[in-house]
Amino acid sequence: MKVLVLNCGSSSLKYQIINMENETLLAKGVAERIGIEGSFVKHEPVDKDKTVIEVALHNHKEAIKVVLDALQDKDHGVVSTLDEINAVGHRVVHAGEKFSGSVMITQEVIDALEECSDLAPLHNPPNLMGIYACQEILAEVPMVGVFDTAFHQTMPKSSYLYALPYELYEKYKIRRYGFHGTSHKYVAIKTAELLEKPLETLKLVTCHLGNGASMAAVMNGKSIDTTMGFTPLEGLAMGTRCGDLDPAIISYIMEKEGLDINAVNNIMNKKSGVLGISGVSSDFRDIENAAAQDNERAQVALEIFYKRVTKYIGAYAAEMGGLDAVVFTAGLGENSDTARKEICKTLAFMGANIDDSKNDNLRGKEAIISTDDSTVKIVLMPTNEELMIARETKALIS
Ligand code: ADP
Repeated sequence: MKVLVLNCGSSSLKYQIINMENETLLAKGVAERIGIEGSFVKHEPVDKDKTVIEVALHNHKEAIKVVLDALQDKDHGVVSTLDEINAVGHRVVHAGEKFSGSVMITQEVIDALEECSDLAPLHNPPNLMGIYACQEILAEVPMVGVFDTAFHQTMPKSSYLYALPYELYEKYKIRRYGFHGTSHKYVAIKTAELLEKPLETLKLVTCHLGNGASMAAVMNGKSIDTTMGFTPLEGLAMGTRCGDLDPAIISYIMEKEGLDINAVNNIMNKKSGVLGISGVSSDFRDIENAAAQDNERAQVALEIFYKRVTKYIGAYAAEMGGLDAVVFTAGLGENSDTARKEICKTLAFMGANIDDSKNDNLRGKEAIISTDDSTVKIVLMPTNEELMIARETKALIS
């Protein structure tokens, strides 16, 4: 069985085709600058030469057509006809309170996702465009929606409600939803396998530390709390997002700088986080380099980032009444030994001891990086959201 995984952004479309008999990647790629001049598709088959197709892509439908042609191309293709694609799995960011798991895409599901677009105006509309395009081009192929929010739907009310008037939740569904759920779920499952313990018995804190960053308290296989909230702005400091903030600061900045709410939203989403503090970059590699050259603002940006992760590890351990493992994943979590070490440096009191000889220079490989006598394991677990989407898709269509 071959599953095509699609992740449609506003001007890009990432794809992977995975053979689910043995979970092997056949090809991956990305269509970029959709609707903008200079669009192209970069197609990378695993066993053949990669290729860049420079072609005008006016919309997602045209992009998907080019991708499907590339998948069947005689030199760069990985299927002989489109009939070999058994299903399409779509990444969808926001499913509101409607779905607590992945679902077969039907008109009813599409209507529900359209309703959620209001909650994720940047993400859901392009996700839906991908679904509409596939409905037209691959009409006979079953489609599955896999949602970033779904894994966190198990949170109790005490985790997902804000301390605002209850009517605002009832009227507008203002609550914590959480994101990166597919990644948190995947690394939680894989960590249980690595530790050779049933997931249903474990208390985990999963740390998805990339450009966007979030953490989850995963207890007995279920997300019971997470750092991102109503939108992906809450929680950790991120590449360009501020994360947790005293809400009173917003009106104060508006008044002092004479800005409207859109301008402040722009500051909080695009100009804050480690970029805003350091003034150097939103990329952790650049900031680590600047910090190594004694750039004080870069150093403090990293300290703020690390400290907030450490704080949430402590908070979630307390919330779960214990902790079996801290799990690091995504760009920074998988690649930066410094970040993992700094985040864990004060955790010995709770039995989490990082082992430098295992952590140093380790990148992108699953491993236990705590000392053998550490009662709380520290784990590096590379995420694979596309494989998780393909697995959920396969499970639903079989
Ligand atoms: P996203 O999917 O949110 O764009 P990723 O999970 O791909 O994010 O993570 C991207 C970030 O990971 C980069 O911005 C960079 O800061 C960080 N990163 C990647 N590799 C390294 C590395 N070797 N050392 C430090 N940081 C890294």
